[in-house]
Amino acid sequence: MTEETLQQTVTKSLIEPHGGSLVDRTGERPEDLDSLETVTLTSREVSDLDMLASGALSPLEGFMGKEDYERVVEEMHLANGLPWALPVCLAVEKAPEGDRVVLADEDGRPLALLDVEEVYEYDKEREAENCFRTSDDAHPGVARLYAQQPLYLAGRVTVFDRPAPAYPELALDPADTRRIFAERGWKRVVGFQTRNPIHRAHEYLTKVALETVDGLLIHPLVGETKSDDVPAAARVECYRVLVDGYYPHDHVLVSAFPAAMRYAGPREAVWHAICRKNYGCSHFIVGRDHAGVGDYYGTYDAQLIFDEFEPHELGIEPMFFEHAFFCRACGSMATPKSCPHGGDDHVFLSGTKVRELLAEGQLPPVEFSRPEVAEVLIEAYRS
Ligand SMILES: [Zn+2]
Repeated sequence: MTEETLQQTVTKSLIEPHGGSLVDRTGERPEDLDSLETVTLTSREVSDLDMLASGALSPLEGFMGKEDYERVVEEMHLANGLPWALPVCLAVEKAPEGDRVVLADEDGRPLALLDVEEVYEYDKEREAENCFRTSDDAHPGVARLYAQQPLYLAGRVTVFDRPAPAYPELALDPADTRRIFAERGWKRVVGFQTRNPIHRAHEYLTKVALETVDGLLIHPLVGETKSDDVPAAARVECYRVLVDGYYPHDHVLVSAFPAAMRYAGPREAVWHAICRKNYGCSHFIVGRDHAGVGDYYGTYDAQLIFDEFEPHELGIEPMFFEHAFFCRACGSMATPKSCPHGGDDHVFLSGTKVRELLAEGQLPPVEFSRPEVAEVLIEAYRS
């Protein structure tokens, strides 16, 4: 296939990026950076910057201005009316002198230029209440928000040095996943967000979803997470052994989602869906308590929030799932929607119980976890 016909196939077959076209904010490193003021980004802001560069946050071309910010916080829409669920902002201590600044990571490495459009004040408590549904600073997302600098700096970015991906073999930009989907002839693709090892329950959800579409994108988040989440390196190995052993390779792609977790629950579910639309997904799996933390969100809040948008307004279609389990009476994986039996027939292990077993070097039941996955986790606990 020539490049041109391939391009036509892409536009004809796959879902359009959010806002209509994929943003590319990569560019050449300018000659003279030394004369410019430098703004140091947190690791979360570096993740956002890289996603701006790749178009994962299309149609955003930079950190949000006040008009977009206000409307996102209040109404989950950008100023132009497109749905958008979470602020993508750069917090600074003071307004820069010049109209152009260098953005650097915490080690001082220059990554990008930002053309200053606006510097504005924001209300942390209101952002917390609206975006996280709580102003409790025990919530990790709220704590991070409260610790931020007091002003937002807005403007388009041009990224000339992208952070080296932690997992190069899994590093695919939206343009890459779209090309691969097109090459494989997939039109309808379901995206699966995860920040955990995949056990039988989630394997089941992804396969049920896959039955109705052409392809499955397993898209684990590898950006910053809470310290008590399973480390990304162990998770990546879990995905590899699981997919090698139990998924058909011509219908599944595993790639890393470079975002940092915000733990914003329902709003983050919408944000995750919109990002996956940019990667070429037409559908997105939303389970129970998606992107939640602690007891801050109701079990189904991350599903119910999608009703706040007009039908098809998001473009990408959410697929809602119940908690899944192996039922001995059914003799199969099931959910409360598809199994009439009681809890005694269900193989259920709490997260605490699973961690105990793994830490002791014991395999959980095969109805709960594939042994290959459990072995990887046991090894991770050992080291
Ligand atoms: Zn049953």
